[in-house]
Amino acid sequence: MLLGMLSYSLTCLGPGKRVGLWVRGCKRNCPGCISPTFQKYDSQYDVEVGELLSKIIGKSPSDLRITISGGEPFDQKDLLPLLKCLRENGFYDILVYTGYRFEELYADPQKRECLSYIDVLIDGPYIQELNDNHALRGSSNQRIIFLNEGLAEEYKPQIEGERKFQLEQVENGTFNFYGIPPKGLDFKTINEDLK
Ligand code: SF4
Repeated sequence: MLLGMLSYSLTCLGPGKRVGLWVRGCKRNCPGCISPTFQKYDSQYDVEVGELLSKIIGKSPSDLRITISGGEPFDQKDLLPLLKCLRENGFYDILVYTGYRFEELYADPQKRECLSYIDVLIDGPYIQELNDNHALRGSSNQRIIFLNEGLAEEYKPQIEGERKFQLEQVENGTFNFYGIPPKGLDFKTINEDLK
């Protein structure tokens, strides 16, 4: 898994206090992509699934929920074993962002198997012109698909609310930005202002 970033206190991309995992590598190059630094496939960031799981579990998240984004999670060679391990370790709310459409994933046997371990899928590439300021997703072509209908009520307040984002201070006094920026907010400027 090409690891981009881990957060253990994510509250803006799904309900509860959850783990946030961003992977590296995406070929789409969508204009306005919020994560351009995670588009590059760079093997120096490759982490074994077991090691990654230890990092996640070792932090003992209070709520066994996780949001996986990127980059493109479905282009990772070991997405399936990671999802299986998360399930085996009790994660009951697995939200995955992808640039693929659900139908494309379903047509591919291995990607379809991944879907069976995912609770909520937010699908489709980001299209800048279709940014409608909706919570949880970047543009109106993207769908919030409940593969586990049992979680729909818990997601409802966030889906019906405003876009949320977080700034988390990390090493060297710098900040990580999490979430989807409200339309018109220049998150790059925010980061510059905080330096
Ligand atoms: S699919 Fe997502 S990560 Fe990939 S370029 Fe588009 S917005 Fe960025």
